[in-house]
Amino acid sequence: MNRLDTDILILGAGGAGLFAALHAKQAAPDLDVTIAVKGLLGKCGCTRMVQGGYNVALAPGDSIERHFMDTIEGGAWLNEQDLAWLLVTQAPVRIRELETELGCFFDRNPDGTIHQKAFAGQTFDRTVHKGDLTGIEIINRLAEQTWRRDVRRLEDHRALDLLPAADGSGLAGVLMLDMRTGEPLIVRAHATLLAAGGGPTMYKYHTPSGDKSCDGMAMVLRAGLPLRDMEMVQFHPTGLLAGEGTRMTGTVLEEGLRGSGGWLTDAAGRRFMFDYDARGERATRDIVSRSIMDRVRNGFASPHGGVFIEMAHLGPDNVRREFKGMVERCADCGFDLAGGRVEVIPTAHYMMGGVVFASDCTTPLPRLYAAGEDTGGVHGANRLGGNGVANSTVFGGLAGDAMAGRVRRRDALPDIMPAALEQAMTRALAPLGGTAGDLPAIRRKLYEVMWDDVGILRNAEGLTRAQSALEVLADDTARCGVPDGERRYNLTWMDRLNLENLVLVSRAVCAAAQARHDSRGAHFREDFPTASELSSSRYTLVRASEETLNVDTEAVNFTRVRPGQTLVPQAAE
Ligand SMILES: Cc1cc2nc3c(=O)[nH]c(=O)nc-3n(C[C@H](O)[C@H](O)[C@H](O)COP(=O)(O)OP(=O)(O)OC[C@H]3O[C@@H](n4cnc5c(N)ncnc54)[C@H](O)[C@@H]3O)c2cc1C
Repeated sequence: MNRLDTDILILGAGGAGLFAALHAKQAAPDLDVTIAVKGLLGKCGCTRMVQGGYNVALAPGDSIERHFMDTIEGGAWLNEQDLAWLLVTQAPVRIRELETELGCFFDRNPDGTIHQKAFAGQTFDRTVHKGDLTGIEIINRLAEQTWRRDVRRLEDHRALDLLPAADGSGLAGVLMLDMRTGEPLIVRAHATLLAAGGGPTMYKYHTPSGDKSCDGMAMVLRAGLPLRDMEMVQFHPTGLLAGEGTRMTGTVLEEGLRGSGGWLTDAAGRRFMFDYDARGERATRDIVSRSIMDRVRNGFASPHGGVFIEMAHLGPDNVRREFKGMVERCADCGFDLAGGRVEVIPTAHYMMGGVVFASDCTTPLPRLYAAGEDTGGVHGANRLGGNGVANSTVFGGLAGDAMAGRVRRRDALPDIMPAALEQAMTRALAPLGGTAGDLPAIRRKLYEVMWDDVGILRNAEGLTRAQSALEVLADDTARCGVPDGERRYNLTWMDRLNLENLVLVSRAVCAAAQARHDSRGAHFREDFPTASELSSSRYTLVRASEETLNVDTEAVNFTRVRPGQTLVPQAAE
């Protein structure tokens, strides 16, 4: 069996993973740092796909407090407030680092200050961007800086399972799979960062990159750790509807389109958002997504089952200039965003829930750290557009600092618990040589179940139906083998492992949604359509034990501000 010992192991090479590597190397250059990533470094994950931009309070008139309050209000008061505070206070630090140390160029105003655009759900225009394809700028610069440093790269390596220490002292390492050779690799580390980026790719319409299949969250569940806020899945209101059979369907048309004044209209040509919210198209993502689905259900659907986004009233030339990437994306699919109208549907975009973690990115399992979209608590019930990449870069950097500060090279690495290793190996290798199953059919069924019954509008009946269907899908997936037994770059095997993780995490989403008997942020129950009392808010925690998932709730700790209060100084009467 191949083995590797390293000081710091980072799982994932998005904004969180790469920032962690750079910070760890800067803080402790002598440490041996390894990044393991399911794809190619710099080419996979969602940070590269960031379009609209990065929220940060920089401009005169804006403030950290204001960004914080927008984040808490947007999160429907479920946020872990100290984490949200770290997000907003560290975002300006990270943006300066990105520009002045790492070489990013963001768009500027004529006076040379950084341009900040409007994003929905915010009381100030604070989204820093590079055109409308901001993530490429960020991830390219982060990747270049990582390549320059002495960081070991394990590309096309997927993490399979967390391996506890034999002495019960915490995490000892991770079982990895070299996808090129199909050979397992045991990596032991003094500190491991989980930064695999969540990713709700279990829905019929979804935006995240194909390499993401909730592997990190599934590993956490199998390791017995809790995931919080799993019912909170964000749907971006404007996923492209490009028809069946193209992966362009579900990809996102960025928030700035609505932020800058774009209209949503229905099949009758009616601009409907003001019927639902005084902010119209600039309402938060949850509200806009629900409103679209309501319109669709009430018989006003566009030909492919969604609604339209229209920009022409802002001047086609302006739209072409300001939203070049989006205009080109639509043109590639035969649509004219600048001058015409384009069909859109809400699309699963982001998971607010994830592993429970603390301000220093530690988790309840010693030696396991977490950052980015794998974590829960920062965004509460709903993430503001622009707070996602801020989250991954802020906490990735903090995790790198924390791990570098704690790891001592000369300490002995813990031994791995043999039974856990054996169990993880058996699980991963089990499909090889087994009888073929219909993986595409399982995936299609998963898409349907999650979209229809655990999607934007939920109720007890649908969730119960989904729970049973997901249990069946878990069994069906477990029975699917990979008959040829070929290990080298076997995509059927990878698909099978992906589906196993996706179904497990889908079950966690469903269980948390069943347990929440109110409507908050991204979670809407038709049978409990209002929010419960904010001052006694509770968040959900899902844990796996054997074959079952258990859900507990815990009271939100309002450490900085209570519902009804604000940290933003109010103008004198
Ligand atoms: C289309 C799109 C547009 C977006 N636009 C914005 C925006 O404008 N503003 C904003 O704030 N946010 C935006 N987001 C959200 C934002 O991309 C994410 O919040 C953020 O980038 C997540 O960073 P991360 O480092 O946690 O994960 P990612 O950047 O997704 O990185 C995860 C990494 O983990 C790796 N990985 C996954 N599984 C494994 C495994 N088993 N083993 C090893 N490695 C693994 C992946 O290959 C990848 O390298 C957008 C997302 C999408 C999909």
